[in-house]
Amino acid sequence: MPISIRFDNSYARLPDAFHHKVAPTPVETPRLIALNRPLAAELGLDADALDGPEGAEIFSGNAVPDGAEPLAAAYAGHQFGGFSPQLGDGRAILLGEVIDSRGARRDIQLKGAGLTRFSRRGDGRAALGPVLREYVVSEAMHALGVPTTRALAAVSTGEAVIRERVLPGAVLTRVASSHIRVGTFQYFAARGDVSGLRALADHAIARHYPEAGDAERPYLALLEAAIARQAALISKWLLVGFVHGVMNTDNMSVAGETIDYGPCAFLDAYDPAASFSSIDEFGRYAYASQPNIGQWNLTRLAESLLPLMDPDPNAALEQARGALKRYPELFNVAYLDGLRAKLGLAEAREEDLRLAQDLLDLMARDRTDYTLTFRRLARAAERPEGDAALRASFADAAGFDGWLARWRARLAAEGRAPGEVAAHMRRVSPAIIPRNHQVEAMIEAAVERDDFAPFRDLLAAVAAPYEDRPAHAAYADPPPESFGPYRTFC
Ligand code: AMP
Ligand code: MG
Ligand code: MG
Repeated sequence: MPISIRFDNSYARLPDAFHHKVAPTPVETPRLIALNRPLAAELGLDADALDGPEGAEIFSGNAVPDGAEPLAAAYAGHQFGGFSPQLGDGRAILLGEVIDSRGARRDIQLKGAGLTRFSRRGDGRAALGPVLREYVVSEAMHALGVPTTRALAAVSTGEAVIRERVLPGAVLTRVASSHIRVGTFQYFAARGDVSGLRALADHAIARHYPEAGDAERPYLALLEAAIARQAALISKWLLVGFVHGVMNTDNMSVAGETIDYGPCAFLDAYDPAASFSSIDEFGRYAYASQPNIGQWNLTRLAESLLPLMDPDPNAALEQARGALKRYPELFNVAYLDGLRAKLGLAEAREEDLRLAQDLLDLMARDRTDYTLTFRRLARAAERPEGDAALRASFADAAGFDGWLARWRARLAAEGRAPGEVAAHMRRVSPAIIPRNHQVEAMIEAAVERDDFAPFRDLLAAVAAPYEDRPAHAAYADPPPESFGPYRTFC
């Protein structure tokens, strides 16, 4: 019995300029490494049938299921500030869309599925290491409560890909609310294709922001809604210590999901200037620069939408400016709310930002571990004697003691039970993130030794990030000294 997937492919029905219809290129010996069974079920797929050779066939692109209409999407984008009028899916192929169990439309896309019209000099393929990194990190983000694309499956291809060296190839099956990027709007705007632009905007509204469709100015409402989601998203990144690494406009989803996990990393030591990607020479996409880059990218979205917004160009400009002005406000509110929760505060007070910023400054000076510091702070909340490990992590113990006294006074003024405060704190500050050294060790085991046990173990640990499970204790540890400074290559 062939596997049946109930596709409903709205993107394939958009005009020809949107895509290049192309089938995946088959691979030599597909082997299923991972299938996300709960996600498969959510998508209405038969997890039992897919969890084996048939799944390997489909998730490698060797078998195209009935109803799929494979395509590579066209898009443009600013990469490190420079505009490329044509990028597009150079190695990703959308199989189609399904309606999930909650009625939401989801893309099913194969990343690393072969050449397309947009491949330029690339080989259309993905290496196993980055596929496993995206699998683990995107699933970790989901478990952390950060909007993200999901990983449905990973397949090794039995073929080699050539990067800095010869590496095993793989295909990742990625699920997204859509793959519409800021760069997709730029693609049509750069061509002066206003009818394409309108079709795209209408599609994005129908799909992600139906309420904008009812607004007096639907395209302005689309911009405002995308801005709000991006502000919320980037605040969440900062609050879990995530560095995307390559926030080019083609890597920013208009639906407000984290997308395109390449050279991403999580902070170990807190450092606002942290930047891990070897190609991000000037730290354009450093941890603390992410909110501003979000604004920069959204400004590119606003520019692209101008032709739709108002027949009077000056009026359109005014509207776009007004929408963009909201972004820093929305970001600041979301970020401060998040910091407050991390400090166990239930009430909002004037001095909260100062309190949070003073802690962050102490953390930055002593490079304390971002994740551990907040987790230990939860423990300190329920112990009047404090937390020795937390205190010891600050070289400036006196400075930290001063801060701790202010924080305790603030908590006391709220008068909530310490156990309750600590429980709330543990719900927003994870014990477990995909630590860079664990991700690297997992990749090394898979690539060098064909050993996927570390992948499965790490995946299980990051799937329960807010829990202190003894079996996962090692994943809560910071990197050993020997790990050294971290660089990502993707
Ligand atoms: P990224 O930096 O991953 O967002 O990719 C930027 C652009 O390069 C996109 O158009 C990708 O489709 C394309 N690209 C990245 N890697 C490859 C590859 N191995 N083969 C073909 N195109 C690629
Ligand atoms: Mg990309
Ligand atoms: Mg990419």
